[in-house]
Amino acid sequence: MSNTDDKTKPQVTILGAGPAGVAAAYALTNNRDTDVTVLERADQVGGNSSSWQMDGIWVDFGSHRFHPVADPNVLQDVKDILGDDLLLRPRHGRIRLGGRWIHFPLKPLDAMLRLPKTFAASLMADSILGKFKAKSTGDKTFSTVLYDGLGKTISENFYFPYVKKLWGLDPDKLAVKLAERRVSGSSVGKILLKMARMLPGLRSETAGRFFYPRKGFGQIVADVAGRAQENGAQFDFGAGITRIERDGNRAVAIWTKDGDKDVRTPTDTIWSTIPITTLIRLLDAPDDVKAAADAIKFRGMILIYLVLETDQFTEYDAHYFPELSIPISRMSEPKNYNASVEPKGTTILCAELPCDPGETWWDMSDDELGQHYCDWLASVGLPVNVKLRRTETRRLANAYPVYDLDYEANFDVMDKWLSGIEGVLTFGRQGLFAHDNTHHAFAMAYGAADCLDASGTFDHTKWNAYRREFEHHVVED
Ligand SMILES: Cc1cc2nc3c(=O)[nH]c(=O)nc-3n(C[C@H](O)[C@H](O)[C@H](O)COP(=O)(O)OP(=O)(O)OC[C@H]3O[C@@H](n4cnc5c(N)ncnc54)[C@H](O)[C@@H]3O)c2cc1C
Repeated sequence: MSNTDDKTKPQVTILGAGPAGVAAAYALTNNRDTDVTVLERADQVGGNSSSWQMDGIWVDFGSHRFHPVADPNVLQDVKDILGDDLLLRPRHGRIRLGGRWIHFPLKPLDAMLRLPKTFAASLMADSILGKFKAKSTGDKTFSTVLYDGLGKTISENFYFPYVKKLWGLDPDKLAVKLAERRVSGSSVGKILLKMARMLPGLRSETAGRFFYPRKGFGQIVADVAGRAQENGAQFDFGAGITRIERDGNRAVAIWTKDGDKDVRTPTDTIWSTIPITTLIRLLDAPDDVKAAADAIKFRGMILIYLVLETDQFTEYDAHYFPELSIPISRMSEPKNYNASVEPKGTTILCAELPCDPGETWWDMSDDELGQHYCDWLASVGLPVNVKLRRTETRRLANAYPVYDLDYEANFDVMDKWLSGIEGVLTFGRQGLFAHDNTHHAFAMAYGAADCLDASGTFDHTKWNAYRREFEHHVVED
């Protein structure tokens, strides 16, 4: 860890080397002098946005794209750091609706021709009659917000089954906030406008496109981390943080395990991007705060990778499965993300299976999951007729924050208590329990760095203003 005796410059210990932690390390060391140490439990940077090679193919934790809507400062830094390795790629996916495949993102002509006629007619009726329909009365719920905004057809055929699959909860058990954070087209009119923007002539350079690095999505965080390291940031991998010592309301030291030895490292400032629930436990918060941490839930996910002996399985980057007939929510073919033709004779299909520890799928062997995966694909007309070399899986315990009806109250208890602990800041997807994209995690980190001045004083008023801005982050899929 860093030398805390050097008081001539601010000293920050960052917990977690996902996009939020790495972007903070970069922002704190780029053209400024901060003593930064990043403690990461894993053996590499990237968190849920990391990549690795499998049979010569770069793979991610499910479908990951860098969205052009990123804050211009964030996008510019990513472009500058990755250079020619950052590709601008056309989105080319398909969604399964009413037993049909429709291009995703939706394209006007394709949607008109391929949507089942009854579905298209109901959609039109919702869009025209929706304007005159009385809005729901009483308390707003996730369901009423979607019904009022999007109408019955999209809500019942698309969003409701999809959220049930993603979060394992019925729509009426989900918070209104989820509709605000996750539903980027909040009315039929906005969805149609988005579709219209895909028309030649009306299309901007980046409409229907995404950024993707040559060496997997994780190259973004890996290269930014490399730059932070060049600037002097230190990364400690395999870090086992056992406790954060407090002196009253001030965090004063981090305890880690080094073999059998307990190591105490004094620290001035901790910026945490690890799950807020873990942070609460490490700080040994009072019982009511720990109870709030116990009550809040993250949704897990199993990523199932089929390694197939063929050049390419389909031409599509991703297939979306909102319907409940199969339990996976999405399938991606990583080679199609970076337009890679190598290695010949091998491709990989990655399925996202939302699922929590304790559910049947969680403890299944790779081979069993692979067999189910092949059966699901066959049931939607995509039989695996090539040789399956093997199946591998990865499990994420913290894939999605679950916005159930109680989450806001529980989050507020933790957030309020943490705001009274000097020297500790929490942000990032896990740290603020935020539904976000990688570029949002970067934006949070840049915001935090902007609040710390050269003498090490943190401007909390400014940070609170940033926190209000983060509330408006809407997830792009
Ligand atoms: C299936 C899926 C698909 C997604 N698709 C996209 C997409 O297309 N585009 C996009 O922009 N975003 C996408 N995202 C979101 C993106 O992955 C996150 O926004 C981003 O990774 C959040 O970064 P973070 O640093 O806040 O958190 P994380 O990536 O979760 O990083 C947290 C880090 O903290 C570390 N950590 C945890 N506990 C400890 C501990 N006790 N001690 C030390 N270290 C610890 C973890 O190992 C990890 O490295 C997707 C997410 C998922 C799950």
